[in-house]
Amino acid sequence: MRRVSILGATGSIGQNTLDLIARAPDDYSVVALTGAGNIPQLAADARRLRAEIAVTAYEDRLEDLRAALAGSGVEAAAGPQAVIEAASRPADWVMSAIVGAAGLAPGLAALQQGGTLALANKESLVCAGPLMLRTARQHGARILPVDSEHSAIFQALVGEDTAAVERIVITASGGAFRDWPIEDLGHATLDQASSHPNWDMGQRITIDSASMFNKAMEIIETWEFFGIDPARIEVIVHPESLIHALVGFRDGALMAHVGPPDMRHAIGYALHWPERRSLPVARLDLAQIGGLTFRAPCDARWPALRLAREVMMAGGLSGAVFNAAKETALDGFIAGRVGFTQMAPVVEEVLTRLSDTARGATEITLDNVARVDHLSRETASAVIAEKAG
Ligand code: NDP
Ligand code: MG
Repeated sequence: MRRVSILGATGSIGQNTLDLIARAPDDYSVVALTGAGNIPQLAADARRLRAEIAVTAYEDRLEDLRAALAGSGVEAAAGPQAVIEAASRPADWVMSAIVGAAGLAPGLAALQQGGTLALANKESLVCAGPLMLRTARQHGARILPVDSEHSAIFQALVGEDTAAVERIVITASGGAFRDWPIEDLGHATLDQASSHPNWDMGQRITIDSASMFNKAMEIIETWEFFGIDPARIEVIVHPESLIHALVGFRDGALMAHVGPPDMRHAIGYALHWPERRSLPVARLDLAQIGGLTFRAPCDARWPALRLAREVMMAGGLSGAVFNAAKETALDGFIAGRVGFTQMAPVVEEVLTRLSDTARGATEITLDNVARVDHLSRETASAVIAEKAG
């Protein structure tokens, strides 16, 4: 039996992961499940899958969680430190699916156990890619990508010489507003931005898909994880979301990964790697699909893509600044304080104001990332207040 833990079990990726695990209950022993506000889901899953421990990140929800788990024999704990401790429990395979920079410290704790970390939390790589990879190396742990594009790249590279890679192309659906006139984007509402044409995901990544901040994060994720020169990473808009990424080799071949937009594929690949096991995802009927379309991304519509390039050029802790500013701008959009098209200018302004800080602290440690993350959120809040005033 493989010992597995799911960080962010109550979210979209977490629930898809549990769906796969629950189909083969004899193969897995569930160590820890973590969540935040959704106590009923967390407790129900912990009972159903007989987890050793369930943890909510919210300190003040401990009593609720205890009550929901009463009589089940499942341990309960609460608070960010308890999430880290849960991630530190010995497990063979840990899913990192907390949303935001909050996923970094638990992911690192899991890597220190030396097992396999299935990484959905792209923010960890954007904030602290070198730290994640270094920690994995030091502890003999393995990181397997779960983001669909990165899983696709990883799969296209199996058996290949990475020196023969000429370019990596990641696809973008274009999100909710890909066909809107640019001048209407300023009026986009939260509801409109929260509905994705192809993928069913958490609210934050869905909005990030509409603004392309998600793709911006993924360019940085590709750079950090695969160690490829930024100039060799391309983005193509592919509205059908059936090709997830392509790897171009020096002989001109492009290897594409094609599959339905269902995260259970990438999660299942990371769960069963290096084997391929049968997965409950739809099989594509190519004749029925008929055709696949592509268009170049438009910088005026999606300024986040340009910002990602600037972040990679600047290096250091710029990724941590970028992510924290983006998270704060997104909080502002969700709260109705920041317009849809104001998010990128807020992030850009924070990157400008903190450019020396980001470049200065070259060593990427958890403390330095946490400090810069905090400063970037404060700066972003100040920028938002100035723009509103
Ligand atoms: P969701 O918002 O659906 O789920 C987020 C999870 O994190 C929930 O379990 C939530 O708990 C928990 N959580 C929220 N805040 C905190 C916190 N401060 N500390 C600890 N846990 C917290 O997100 P997704 O599942 O969509 O995304 C998860 C990660 O995977 C993100 O990094 C995202 O970018 C990445 N990803 C997601 C994809 C998708 O298809 N959804 C695709 C590719 C990558 P609760 O719900 O109980 O409050
Ligand atoms: Mg993705």
